[in-house]
Amino acid sequence: MVSLSKKIKRQQQKDAKKDLQEKVGLFNKLQDHCLVCQKDFDKKNKEMVMTWSVVVKEDTVRLYCPECWGRANKLIEEIKDGYTNPENDV
Ligand SMILES: [Zn+2]
Repeated sequence: MVSLSKKIKRQQQKDAKKDLQEKVGLFNKLQDHCLVCQKDFDKKNKEMVMTWSVVVKEDTVRLYCPECWGRANKLIEEIKDGYTNPENDV
């Protein structure tokens, strides 16, 4: 009997590869740098492909490096906090 878990693992690897290819396909529409800090992005670098963030909105594709993505999310959190906690303690 063929090991099912082995089969599933292989399928997952296949899917991951397909995902990556789709992601790389999107990157082809992009410029080769972060939208915020202009840091160079190497689409052949798997590590970069996995860590950089892509935001797809309709037919616009935006690319963010991990640093800028983290900063953007922090900013969003701070804005949210600002709304929920008015500046009473200042
Ligand atoms: Zn950046």
